Amino acid sequence: MAEYLEGRENQIVTKGIDSHELVGGKPSVAGSVSQRACVFCGSRVVLYPIADALHLVHGPIGCASYTWDIRGALSSGPELHRSSFSTDLREKNIVFGGQDKLYQALHELIDKHHPKAAFVYSTCIVGVIGDDVQSVCKRVQKEKNIPVVAVMAEGFQGSKKDGYKIACDALFSLVGTDESMDVSPLSINILGDFNLAGELWMLEEYYKKMGIQILAPITGDGRVKKIQNAHRAALNVVQCSGSMIHLAKQMKEKYGIPFIKVSYFGIEDMSDALYEVAKFFKDDSVMDKARELVKDQLTTLIPALEPYKRALQGKKAAIYVGGAFKAISLVKALRLIGMKTVIAGTQTGNTEDYRLLKTICDDGCIMVDDSNPVELSEFVKQTGADLFIGGVKERPIAYKLGIGFCDHNHERKLALAGYDGMLNFAKEVYETVTSPVWQFVNRSTPFDNE
Ligand code: SF4
Repeated sequence: MAEYLEGRENQIVTKGIDSHELVGGKPSVAGSVSQRACVFCGSRVVLYPIADALHLVHGPIGCASYTWDIRGALSSGPELHRSSFSTDLREKNIVFGGQDKLYQALHELIDKHHPKAAFVYSTCIVGVIGDDVQSVCKRVQKEKNIPVVAVMAEGFQGSKKDGYKIACDALFSLVGTDESMDVSPLSINILGDFNLAGELWMLEEYYKKMGIQILAPITGDGRVKKIQNAHRAALNVVQCSGSMIHLAKQMKEKYGIPFIKVSYFGIEDMSDALYEVAKFFKDDSVMDKARELVKDQLTTLIPALEPYKRALQGKKAAIYVGGAFKAISLVKALRLIGMKTVIAGTQTGNTEDYRLLKTICDDGCIMVDDSNPVELSEFVKQTGADLFIGGVKERPIAYKLGIGFCDHNHERKLALAGYDGMLNFAKEVYETVTSPVWQFVNRSTPFDNE
């Protein structure tokens, strides 16, 4: 076992060797350069894909650097979410307060862009100087007659996961405020798909073939009006439970909408996601259509995966992603293409998630919660992983260690959900793992000499 910071003992477990349980959901240990992002980042990840809303970051310009380029959620219509607006607080505003600047910025932007709603993100410095963001939002809401939602997401309050909850509260304030859309009795909301590379459109296609209406996608390709009508769907289907379970629970409590948790990644989980929805509606014709769809897809997909499986047989993968459901699906999908997972970690998993993850990992797999670059690098060297699957912060770790990398997070431009997504995933993994470039890389690292 590699060295790790004191206090992190029960956040790292090697299956088959350690007997203690992995405890997830703990605050980061002081002194650890955690891979977790801040509260503001978490709230923005969730709300940002709502394409016809104004997203205004109240704070210094640095916080607003997290733009559409990093989180490229696609829209089939309006694209206001692609513009990154900030009140750009300077020293003078920080000394004398930034409320006036916020009020003016909201008026100016709403007049210019006519959004259907506005989200105002409060960042660290605003929490420190104490601007009354909520009262400014309330005032502008009255004057402009659109929802203006204060997202009190000061980065220092906790971690990215706390930002998810704050974003869910912001969404919940919109749900139930409109009843003008046509709603089918076979309607669902999809919670927690962010349409980074058009995945939502694939899902729409599948559910349409089954006769199911997606009333509100929350929040990929999101629209304010659909979210306002979302309380009228028959079922909430939660894909990213880490980010959206809070909203699903709130909607169940207030509107009685049941929810199921699914994953759209990998053949098994994608098929289960369709069957679970069909089962819910207790309609034989819906189930028959789901079976037909899965059969059609697998007839072409299974033979297409074969060559990749042969080439990747026995290769080893490290996974470090945001949520545990994604990690679980990835372990299964990697197994399907002949690969073994040797490291499985997440930023936001809880103890229950890790229990589940452990049941599907092989003996020898290192499971880790809230890791940091030094630990991850050590684990990769120790296990001899050939591939790292992660996000923007893990990419340099993989490349510095001279191994393949697959982006399964914010920056990717390739759809990895659904049946087509599984084939894209196999191709991408194959291309990076077997790339001839790795033979020219020195796999020793600066840590080797320490
Ligand atoms: S931690 Fe604070 S200052 Fe840094 S990006 Fe997050 S909100 Fe902005």
